[in-house]
Amino acid sequence: MRGGFATVHSACPATLGESVAGAGVSRYLQAMDTRVLAPILAVLGTGICLASAGTVRAPARADEASETIAVSAVTRVALEPDDPTRMASSTCAANPTANDPEYVLAAAAPIPSQKAKPDVCPWCKGDAEAMAKAGVVSHGPVPIATWTSDQLVTRLPASQWIVLETAHLRFASSLPAIEVELADQARVQAELDRLRAVLPNVPAKVKKLDPWLRLHLIAMKSEEFHARFQKLIGVTDADFPESRQHDKPYMGDGKFLGEKDKFEIVLHANRATHNLFTKDFCGAEVTGALRWHFPKVHKMLASIPCEDPDLKKDKTLYPHVVHNLSHLFFCAYKHFSYDPPTWIDEGIALAMEKEIDPRAATNEGEEGSFVDRVAPPNWGEEVRKMIGRGRQKSLAELMYVKETGAMDPDALYTSWSMTRFLIEEHPEKLATILGGLKGQLDANGIPTGDDLPGLQRRLFKDVGGWTPQSFDEQWKAWATRPPPPPAK
Ligand SMILES: [Zn+2]
Ligand SMILES: [Zn+2]
Repeated sequence: MRGGFATVHSACPATLGESVAGAGVSRYLQAMDTRVLAPILAVLGTGICLASAGTVRAPARADEASETIAVSAVTRVALEPDDPTRMASSTCAANPTANDPEYVLAAAAPIPSQKAKPDVCPWCKGDAEAMAKAGVVSHGPVPIATWTSDQLVTRLPASQWIVLETAHLRFASSLPAIEVELADQARVQAELDRLRAVLPNVPAKVKKLDPWLRLHLIAMKSEEFHARFQKLIGVTDADFPESRQHDKPYMGDGKFLGEKDKFEIVLHANRATHNLFTKDFCGAEVTGALRWHFPKVHKMLASIPCEDPDLKKDKTLYPHVVHNLSHLFFCAYKHFSYDPPTWIDEGIALAMEKEIDPRAATNEGEEGSFVDRVAPPNWGEEVRKMIGRGRQKSLAELMYVKETGAMDPDALYTSWSMTRFLIEEHPEKLATILGGLKGQLDANGIPTGDDLPGLQRRLFKDVGGWTPQSFDEQWKAWATRPPPPPAK
């Protein structure tokens, strides 16, 4: 299943006529099945000329696509304090349904009518003023992927689907109510306090989060993360016009970091609906989280199965959501026209995830090849040890990495630590470098991912005065500096 090919230009109007953006494996997938795109495009009123999809080598059928599309599977490593070795992993499966009774059941059964559950949020109560104050644009129906959220309800069996749209994000969730664990009460309490500031009827103390409250909290935190990411790349919403302006510096082709539509996150209580959902637009079944770019409507989506024990809990789920959002945001920045350099894309995603929970680590790619090495809880310590043994990678090597699956633990530690070095010591230089990496244009003003190693060399030199070698030395000195004394 891995391996595949066909990175297709995401077809902003300027690049729509191009065929295929070179060889290589895209870590981000793009919907190419015009059959499933057609109805939603009609719904969205985008007026896209569907015939042009043929120029981007669209497979005619979903099952054809499944043989040819490269997929991005995500393996998670989430450590629990009581069990430092436990990890949950997932990977692409060629055909996970054959021996999976639950999937077969879900796929074959007629769609059950959903049980009577409140379809009005008990916290916003459908009140426009309350919703606006809480940053809720809509509780549905909203577009999701190539569907509407109403189609989601009828096509993906779940006890309940709820949706929530905020200023930059759209969520659909079938996650159930969840007990708040004793050990997790302080964190949840603090989050509820933040939510209550904008949604006054949220109770002071809850033993159980209902599905609506869960989604409200995830959405609130994800918007907070969007703001954090904007700070990282040194932008605000005002930097992104509705569409490309040729007389201004290139900022992509839409107001959502350079894409035209909001970011979408679909949280599935079980993997069966994740499989049904992702197969519909990418033609392949993926066991882990899947990220996808819809080139015609210019939006990015992550579908996340939350069935494994670690992802059933919000404490471990949310850092994983942040990891995926980080990839979506960075790819969207100045429009997703080519894959950004892998090491820094991954370094940022790991850094962002670890800002939420230092013990969290999402691990992409080939399952099982290095999970126990990636898992240590203190990555700063691991980096120190790695440098002590001389096993770190050099920036010059990392610049050429094309796939996260090709990164061994030392490459991941180095990427994460070099990114942290830039975040902590040179945040403005980092923002300028990231902007340069995402906005490369060719002689005709069309975004191009040509010679990314050369682009990285130029940017590190021009922005920071670094050669790859001098950068390595400065980073190593920073990463091996004595740790701060423990707080009294
Ligand atoms: Zn609500
Ligand atoms: Zn990643």
